[in-house]
Amino acid sequence: MNPALKAYYGRLPRNISHYGGFYTMTEENWPLIGPMGVEGTFVVGALSGFGTMAACAAGKLCAAWVAGSDLPDYAADLSLQRYENGPLMTDLSALQSKGVL
Ligand SMILES: Cc1cc2nc3c(=O)[nH]c(=O)nc-3n(C[C@H](O)[C@H](O)[C@H](O)COP(=O)(O)OP(=O)(O)OC[C@H]3O[C@@H](n4cnc5c(N)ncnc54)[C@H](O)[C@@H]3O)c2cc1C
Repeated sequence: MNPALKAYYGRLPRNISHYGGFYTMTEENWPLIGPMGVEGTFVVGALSGFGTMAACAAGKLCAAWVAGSDLPDYAADLSLQRYENGPLMTDLSALQSKGVL
């Protein structure tokens, strides 16, 4: 992207590396954590560009769904159930920024 920086190739204190890929994400860029349509199946997905940071919390939340433990207030909103919450989905689709990293 910046050809002039090639002057620094081989002169940096450590190797140059470059990586990339596609984000798996929902339209609203919120993850999906919790039960799927088939009983006994669960998902932790659509973690977009924050999945490494969110991994422990996402795993803990999904484990609570699997174990049938008490769930935090936000659990339904981070699961497929949010698509049945019309006001929330309307608010999310109206946001100017989806917070994509
Ligand atoms: C370019 C880029 C930069 C990112 N930077 C950050 C960052 O700085 N901080 C951050 O928090 N997050 C970042 N993320 C997001 C983070 O990497 C992902 O959210 C996270 O890796 C998702 O974890 P996962 O386990 O759900 O899926 P993945 O890490 O994608 O793991 C899925 C695994 O399943 C395997 N698999 C797929 N299909 C099959 C099959 N049929 N059979 C067997 N195995 C299969 C794949 O090979 C893969 O190993 C970044 C993502 C990208 C693309």
